[in-house]
Amino acid sequence: MADGAPALTDDALRAEVRAWLAEHWKGLPQPRPGPGGAGWTTTPEHRAWLAKVVESGWAAPRWPTEWYGRGLADHQARIIEREFAAVGAPGSGQDRTNLWANTALAYASPTFKPKIVPQLLKQEVGMCLLYSEPGAGSDLAGIRTRADRNGDHFVVNGQKVWTSGAATADYGMLIARTDWDVPKHKGISFFFLPMKQEGVEVRPLHQITGESHFNEVFFTDAICPAENLLGAPGAGWGVLQTALAYERSVMGEGARGPRSGVAESNGEEPLIALAREAGVLGDPLIRQEIAKVIGYRRLNAMNTARAKSDLAQGTSSSIMSLGKLAMSRILHEEARVRTLILGAGSLLEGPDHPRAEDANFLTLNAYFTSIGGGTDQIQRNIIGERVLGLPKEPEVDRDVPFRQVRGNA
Ligand SMILES: Cc1cc2nc3c(=O)[nH]c(=O)nc-3n(C[C@H](O)[C@H](O)[C@H](O)COP(=O)(O)OP(=O)(O)OC[C@H]3O[C@@H](n4cnc5c(N)ncnc54)[C@H](O)[C@@H]3O)c2cc1C
Repeated sequence: MADGAPALTDDALRAEVRAWLAEHWKGLPQPRPGPGGAGWTTTPEHRAWLAKVVESGWAAPRWPTEWYGRGLADHQARIIEREFAAVGAPGSGQDRTNLWANTALAYASPTFKPKIVPQLLKQEVGMCLLYSEPGAGSDLAGIRTRADRNGDHFVVNGQKVWTSGAATADYGMLIARTDWDVPKHKGISFFFLPMKQEGVEVRPLHQITGESHFNEVFFTDAICPAENLLGAPGAGWGVLQTALAYERSVMGEGARGPRSGVAESNGEEPLIALAREAGVLGDPLIRQEIAKVIGYRRLNAMNTARAKSDLAQGTSSSIMSLGKLAMSRILHEEARVRTLILGAGSLLEGPDHPRAEDANFLTLNAYFTSIGGGTDQIQRNIIGERVLGLPKEPEVDRDVPFRQVRGNA
């Protein structure tokens, strides 16, 4: 319910959003991958559409009215999302899916929040995640990039790696160590670091798929305004948990599909369409394998919906790990079944063989979800400890001031 306004019935809300879409939605050109497959470029028309959705309160309907929302309950926000999905219009449901905007809304400072939140909802700024380092991936609390306060700003020095989209980003969500005299989880702070500055150097990494989504990022006296600190100094670990939960929920929902761009089905389940085209749809083994993948996907969609209904603004849910782990397994299975359907034909490659090209791409790209956002093994640890209540993994450096941990003196 919008603050102070009378409650809308579901039917009245549905009618309102339908009428608004009928008046404003005229379709959009497809966004395209950036150079070398890095990032995704949105068109000016796309951004203009998002601005309209944001200003109208449809982008984040669960959020309060003073933050572009409508203060609606989850089930009413889903009515809006379904109406947008029915006509193929993007931009709604960002209060569930936009990890940058949700993290900023929950933790940004009073002066930074009004500047950054609308820019994030309207996708006027590009973002990247500056978490992993050469010596700190699964054990993120072991980061050594430092941020030292100097008056009204912090000075950042160190290195990150595997940073998706860094080459085009305007800001990076950065975790950096601000206190070396407390245990590792307690001395970390969380920033929105401006990327387009002299102290930030981005070097692309080349992937097995031929793309370059990832980068190494080096900081040499990079400057971050103090107002870009999210949460209190030293409280960055808690902010990170919220941001990671949103990231996992998005990764648990889906992933990139085939990249050839050659249409493979007219609304039919793609694996069924592929098997029909390859003339093996009658094969009982193939049918069983396809049914298994579809079953996994449906089950995962239900689990993700359950996890999301648990996720109140600014909190994290360990059940998201289950969805991410399941999606990782599903993507590997899907790629394997595509290869099975194509048989020896899957050994071919190149633009003349788009089906084989897609199967090979999906096989290689499936590792994206198994590693990015926390590996499958780490998701299992989280599920074991936080969902099943098993004993914690031993951690000898957990309570030791970080400066005293071997290698940090
Ligand atoms: C597609 C993709 C996108 C990414 N994007 C970003 C990004 O934008 N920003 C960013 O900061 N990072 C990003 N990453 C980095 C990613 O988060 C790390 O690669 C990941 O967290 C693993 O860290 P690592 O590579 O250092 O491996 P390590 O932590 O060294 O792990 C190596 C192996 O040991 C296992 N392992 C480690 N610790 C444990 C444990 N306690 N229990 C059981 N097994 C364990 C791991 O599961 C893994 O198999 C991305 C990675 C990929 C693949």
